[in-house]
Amino acid sequence: MLKGKVAIVTGSTSGIGLGIAKELAGLGADLVLNGFGDAAEIESIRGGIERESAVRVIYDGADMSKGDAVRGMIAAAFEKFGRIDILVNNAGIQFTAPVEEFPAAKWDAILGINLSAAFHGIAAAVPRMKKQRWGRIINIASTHGLVASTHKAAYVAAKHGLVGLTKVVGLETAGSGVTCNAVCPGWVRTPLVEKQISDMAARRGITQKEAANELLAEKQPSLDFVSPSQLGGTVAFLCSPAADQITGTTISVDGGWTAQ
Ligand code: NAD
Repeated sequence: MLKGKVAIVTGSTSGIGLGIAKELAGLGADLVLNGFGDAAEIESIRGGIERESAVRVIYDGADMSKGDAVRGMIAAAFEKFGRIDILVNNAGIQFTAPVEEFPAAKWDAILGINLSAAFHGIAAAVPRMKKQRWGRIINIASTHGLVASTHKAAYVAAKHGLVGLTKVVGLETAGSGVTCNAVCPGWVRTPLVEKQISDMAARRGITQKEAANELLAEKQPSLDFVSPSQLGGTVAFLCSPAADQITGTTISVDGGWTAQ
């Protein structure tokens, strides 16, 4: 389905981004991987996807907290492959504290990586996508782009902002062959959530398993985690012809979280 197309997935060395990258490569897209981590591990991920899916995979270590680096990554991918068809803005970080104790530096970092990086990437990619008359921009927001939880001021603000950005870009690209949508996952068991499970287990003196179950029971009626590969499937659907007229909107993949 995506043979000949080029996809960039930010924050794809781990978790959800990696699940999405594998799915898109499996459908034939050439790939730009991005994110932090151990160099040898990243090279093994890169080579593994290339071998399994018989596509070209390059790694770009651009820091998503730096606007120029984000734009540079888009330009470099275009130079390498001659086109950019799919941009998945997925890189993200989390930090929790009550608003009055929230460190300003953490606020800036979360807004930078979870929101401004998407702005810079989109601004650099849209002209190229419009010229091609085809493009898919998929922003990985969150249930926290739609509803709030305590102690997540920066994350909830950034994700609501990302949903707003999605609507504007959906409008500005309407009819051009480019679509822009946001995916809003509930709990996915990745390193980002593992830390919240460990924090809860330590705080409450309970096991990891009990903490994971409590996290689900509090928010996610299905009582099961969403998987990175299910989110890969959602992104693949948004890249399919069935989704040509879906733009400027959100798709929740949250086990019922936001239906409550
Ligand atoms: P993760 O920690 O497993 O992965 C985050 C990725 O982002 C990693 O590849 C990391 O290296 C990369 N990254 C972090 N800072 C970066 C930077 N400055 N520059 C480049 N890359 C950077 O987390 P995840 O759970 O897979 O989260 C991925 C996205 O999904 C995030 O935007 C997160 O907010 C969102 N999300 C996660 C959940 C969940 O339950 N895990 C739920 C909803 C939304």
